[in-house]
Amino acid sequence: IRRYSAVAGKDPSIAGIEDIVAVASGKGGVGKSTTAVNLAVALAKTCQLKVGLLDADIYGPSIPTMMDLCGKPEVSEDLKMVPIENHGVRCMSIGFLVDKDAPIVWRGPMVMSALEKLTRGVAWGSVDILVVDMPPGTGDAQLSISQRLKLSGALIVSTPQDIALIDARRGANMFRKVEVPILGLLENMSYFKCPHCSEKSYIFGHGGAQKTAEELDMKFLGEIPLELDIRSSSDEGCPIVISAPNSSAAKAYTDVAEKV
Ligand code: ADP
Repeated sequence: IRRYSAVAGKDPSIAGIEDIVAVASGKGGVGKSTTAVNLAVALAKTCQLKVGLLDADIYGPSIPTMMDLCGKPEVSEDLKMVPIENHGVRCMSIGFLVDKDAPIVWRGPMVMSALEKLTRGVAWGSVDILVVDMPPGTGDAQLSISQRLKLSGALIVSTPQDIALIDARRGANMFRKVEVPILGLLENMSYFKCPHCSEKSYIFGHGGAQKTAEELDMKFLGEIPLELDIRSSSDEGCPIVISAPNSSAAKAYTDVAEKV
């Protein structure tokens, strides 16, 4: 396995974790969490790595649902929270600690102190790669996470739509500013394949993400189709790389895991 922390000349910022890789997007709803979950599971299952998954999307945690996890983490002897595991991935999310329907109305400093607990206050054990589902956008929280966690790389998710790609550029520029290597751009919801006639419809446009990746000198990591099974498997807490490992979508995610 490629050690990004070593390539970037950085020491791991959490004891026991070799590499911390962020899955980021310039805007919400483009499939960042879906990608983070499928990537983490594919890294564990196909690449046989010890994988952690951190839900840093404090205001909209989706990892508990997407990984079919609930309940409160146990506390270890040295008073750290023990991650909850499913599909071979150790997970931590603010969603384990707060009531599902309660709005999270914290301001910046509280968000950062919660993230500190969710990272260094966790008994991760020995982990090859920690996948971080970042909050959407390019604000203060994203910058602080990138710097404090000493990210060894970031993967950017975007839909093919111009408006999403503009935000993806912002994301790329933010990571460059804090010297986090960009692992590549993944296009999600690239096209819709009709379940009846198999015709592809490019609902959000076509080719834009690849072009943006080239313009920004980033690797293009591939296309994930807009597919009913991806959505339903996420909602059921069994990511598509597990529920339908031979589907083209699962293969696309596995391919990304191998490229990363
Ligand atoms: P984000 O983390 O960027 O806000 P999510 O991963 O939560 O986005 O995805 C938003 C919604 O879109 C979820 O309901 C998810 O299941 C769905 N979704 C994401 N990617 C796909 C896809 N390729 N095909 C179908 N539905 C998708």
